[in-house]
Amino acid sequence: MEALESVNPISGDTIGYVNTTPLQSTTLMYEQARRAFQTWQNTSIKERLQYIRKLRHIIVEQLEDGIDIIHQDTGKPKVESITADLYTILDAIAYLEKHAEKILKTRKTKTPIAFIGKKSYTSYHPRGVVLVISPWNYPFQLAMNPVINAVIAGNCAILKPSEVTPLVGQWMESLFEQAGFPDHVIQVAHGGKEIGAKLVSEKPDYIFFTGSDRTGKIILQEAAKNLIPTSLELGGKDPMIVFKDAHIERAVNGALWGSLTNYGQVCMSVERIYVEKKIYEPFVVSLKRGLQNLKTELSDDADLGSMTFEQQLQVVQNHVSSAISKGATLYSGSHPKLNQNQGMKIEPIILTGVNHKMEVIQEETFGPVINVIPFENEEEAIKLANNSRYGLSSSVWSKDINKAKRVAGKLAAGSVLVNDVLVAIANPHLPFGGIKDSGIGRYHAAVGVTNFCHQKSIMVDSG
Ligand code: ADP
Repeated sequence: MEALESVNPISGDTIGYVNTTPLQSTTLMYEQARRAFQTWQNTSIKERLQYIRKLRHIIVEQLEDGIDIIHQDTGKPKVESITADLYTILDAIAYLEKHAEKILKTRKTKTPIAFIGKKSYTSYHPRGVVLVISPWNYPFQLAMNPVINAVIAGNCAILKPSEVTPLVGQWMESLFEQAGFPDHVIQVAHGGKEIGAKLVSEKPDYIFFTGSDRTGKIILQEAAKNLIPTSLELGGKDPMIVFKDAHIERAVNGALWGSLTNYGQVCMSVERIYVEKKIYEPFVVSLKRGLQNLKTELSDDADLGSMTFEQQLQVVQNHVSSAISKGATLYSGSHPKLNQNQGMKIEPIILTGVNHKMEVIQEETFGPVINVIPFENEEEAIKLANNSRYGLSSSVWSKDINKAKRVAGKLAAGSVLVNDVLVAIANPHLPFGGIKDSGIGRYHAAVGVTNFCHQKSIMVDSG
């Protein structure tokens, strides 16, 4: 049996192996899931919540192990493993405990005069077997959340975690086992894109994919052959608009945090900063100072982690080289290259003199690169921000809240934050997702649960 190797991106050491799931076993996995679904779909939400609560209990009990596994498998600082990966799932479970029954209950609807005397209802029903395919940047959160929502809605789930962070995948599998879910309600398949593609070809009843837009489009094409409904949480090139009346220090901090969290390997990383001309100079000066004050070298209390995946590092290097060859300026930092004994760490940089003809502004870089562009007025800022094939998240910075809300209304993105960055996905009450090449469908809130259901309409004439 082949094995996936886990390499700690900081030390470069091999830290473990996880056996891949044989390709020929996917058919059996689906058969088992479909059998388990016959019973699981008839359990009450209260019963399902008991398993989810047990799962939470075990996650909390093993939190220290979880922090270490995520930290070592991805290279992100321990604190980020807690706040962005582990904690969000506890929050998502708390949301479901409080709201799942209400969200999934059968609703009476109004009956118009033409149907007088009849009663009508809508009810939610699980789809069947849900395939969840997840990425490496938030390997816990982005896998766990759809699985939990799928099973709360009464589906069985097959999870294919990323091969880049296999130890997190293995840990999640053991958590599901320990939580005692009935056999085959949740199964995990380990491996790369071959097993991902095979699982898609086995005709799941729903696919929830998180990853690159390139792979998302391949999966959607495959899904279309069998009309499989699919949710796609894809990449982004999120703009941040900073007006001259913004609180500059807060905006600079937001820019650093938004661009460098998880080393920029976040779908809603700030990847384009547009700054009103009047404050452009002081803004970039403060940004450079702020960046230089961050602790980036290897140490336990470093502010920043590491690149996780070598191929992504190459994307970052290519974007930066190409931008510089087209006239961009390295305003802070040096060309991203690996330093000896620093694992997959590169120096975070600020690029100025960038424009929309450059890949670094058009394509997702997914690394510690901060691009800053000046703008003249509100209209130009909106035009620049919307000039992208992506539309995930975005932010507007101004003390004039009416102006900020007006601009928010015009931005082509799934979410807009006013005077903040990144946290759109942290609020389980807010649907999160993208438009354009950033995806289809939403994560979190009621829709995050009803995604995994089909809605049935019933009209009753008492005869
Ligand atoms: P990234 O994780 O870098 O965003 P991908 O979008 O390629 O990159 O991968 C996300 C997830 O999709 C991973 O779990 C990967 O194994 C899986 N995957 C990649 N290609 C395919 C494919 N053709 N079919 C199904 N799954 C795939």
